[in-house]
Amino acid sequence: MRVSCIVLFLGAFVLSTGTVSAVEKLELPINPKCNQAQIDRKGLNSNQTGCTAITRSAWDWKYAPINRELLEAKFKHHKIEYLTYHHQALFGESIETALKTGRQSEINQAKKEVRRKAELRLRAKGIREQVTNINGGNCANGECHFKKFGDIAYHYIVDQYGNIAEGRSLDYAPGTYTKSYGTNKIHDFKNHLAVMILGNFDAQELTREGKLALIRVLSAGQRKYKIETKNIQPHKHHANSSCPGVNILSLRGKNAIPEMTLLYSLQSELIDRGCKPQAVSQHVFLDGKYGTMTETALLRLQADNPSLNYEIVSDQMLMSLLENPQYRCK
Ligand SMILES: [Zn+2]
Repeated sequence: MRVSCIVLFLGAFVLSTGTVSAVEKLELPINPKCNQAQIDRKGLNSNQTGCTAITRSAWDWKYAPINRELLEAKFKHHKIEYLTYHHQALFGESIETALKTGRQSEINQAKKEVRRKAELRLRAKGIREQVTNINGGNCANGECHFKKFGDIAYHYIVDQYGNIAEGRSLDYAPGTYTKSYGTNKIHDFKNHLAVMILGNFDAQELTREGKLALIRVLSAGQRKYKIETKNIQPHKHHANSSCPGVNILSLRGKNAIPEMTLLYSLQSELIDRGCKPQAVSQHVFLDGKYGTMTETALLRLQADNPSLNYEIVSDQMLMSLLENPQYRCK
């Protein structure tokens, strides 16, 4: 009798966890400069910059409906363990063609032309229109995202003006055509959160706003899902691809995306715990760089909470803070 009760109890537990195991939603703060209602009604004006979390319904998805059946069958996942960053590779074919010639002058010319077109596109079309196009447009070659992937391939899309748009539901793994290294198999990106920046970073340089938008999303993911910095990686790290382009891949040391994300996460924690100097605005404090302001705030937090005796910029420090909301500046 006792055994069957336990079995029944376990059965109920499995059933109940099966229905509540959706990935917890990521909350990105809404930028008060942006009028969300206006975005929802008219679409984002390309002059509106630094808008956060443009909702899924604010871009025009009705021409590319979500294929829930395909998503459930092929992409369902239950947790986020990796954060991966991508670029759009806009007009990338012409660079590929030039690379095959091996002639530097042709490669340079192709890059110059891609840069010109990408910048023109960014100015002419806002993030909303670009995201709509990626998802539903250009289906002639049968590769439009919503057909193969059930929805846009990425969870978040950012642009060079610092705008951030929501994409695919976090309940589903990102879509990809790329293969695992040394195999002919499409790489499995289950348990990844994918952020994509519009443009082509084999040709373009990342703007400060673009970089910070990318880092803001990655940092929100790092703090929410407690992701170690080593698991924040470019697409190329996991699968056979040049994504997100040489000009992002070549960022090293304190300018590298994962390192800046960790700093940004620590800075966000310092703000939430009352450690930021009052005279400094949040906008200035949150830069993903280790400067005097961040050092002072971290040392103050450590002095007020002596049990926090970790190296001040480290995953251990961040994880300890995430586990212990009681650590605050007095
Ligand atoms: Zn990619």
